[in-house]
Amino acid sequence: MKQYYIGVDLGGTNIKVSVFTSDFRLLGENRTPTQVEHGSDHVLSRIYENITALLDELHLDTSDIRCMGIGVPGILDIPNGISRFSPNFPKWKEVPIAAWMENHLHIPVFIDNDARVNLYGEWRFGAGKNRKNVLMITLGTGLGGAAVVDGRVIYGATGSAGEIGHINMYREGRECRCGSSGCLGRYVSALGILRTFREKVESGAESVVCDWVQGDLSKVTAAMLSDAYDAGDATAIETMKETGELLGYGLCAVFSLYNPEIIIVGGGMSNTGDRLLQYTRAILEKHALRIPYAACTIVTAVLGDSAGMLGAAVYAKEKMDELEPEPDLSEVLSFR
Ligand SMILES: [Zn+2]
Repeated sequence: MKQYYIGVDLGGTNIKVSVFTSDFRLLGENRTPTQVEHGSDHVLSRIYENITALLDELHLDTSDIRCMGIGVPGILDIPNGISRFSPNFPKWKEVPIAAWMENHLHIPVFIDNDARVNLYGEWRFGAGKNRKNVLMITLGTGLGGAAVVDGRVIYGATGSAGEIGHINMYREGRECRCGSSGCLGRYVSALGILRTFREKVESGAESVVCDWVQGDLSKVTAAMLSDAYDAGDATAIETMKETGELLGYGLCAVFSLYNPEIIIVGGGMSNTGDRLLQYTRAILEKHALRIPYAACTIVTAVLGDSAGMLGAAVYAKEKMDELEPEPDLSEVLSFR
């Protein structure tokens, strides 16, 4: 019986696959490196192999699966299930993910933006439960965003609504792979904060982090900056402050547009927590519209890095229910 759901989180670093029951209890999951450098066919085969391996492990096969959702980074053609372009996937162009998977697995497949599947997870089961106006930010390698406004996940004309990573903060700033420059995500993201730190060191600032990596700045990680921040390192503190403040200025615009009641900060770099967000809040307090800001809380995500898989499965189920509503058994019973 088709009673289970698959959720896939396709990231630049890892492919994560989970199988859920119809009430979204986790049956099993696996994770494997994406190996994005080998191109799209290789990555699609890896996703497929991981799904079949997980189903074998759970003694299930595709006839037990109602549908599957995949969270994909970058610009998508959502209705046609195509990944058009992804900044972190260098060899990707017009990759027909949903069709490829449907041909191999013979189950319905739905794709959506990675930030948006995180939003579905946190909104239905995490920090945004029962809220009608939610802004999700994913602070990872890059910066993603997605929003629920008045109880609906918003998409916009080409599915790009909520892409806060590409709000222009500097007229001619750091170049962005989207084709523009000065985008928020080029500063507020793991790559962005590391570059800011590196620029400071290269222009003469000192930091304990340089000792930790024996002067090799390519080895610095966002986690190291948090550790250095905790140790009172002035350059790490300045980097965190600049990055947090810039996020605050970017969010001022988002506040005016979406009027969220909760902002959920997820993604790998959300571990920086209040080290970063205290500066974001300080800017919002000064510059965001007062009444909406007073009505909003900023929190870190609670589902951790499984939000994407769970959200992808939830999203797929909701899409599937729109196409073929599950029979309402209570009505059938009341007929008798
Ligand atoms: Zn951009």
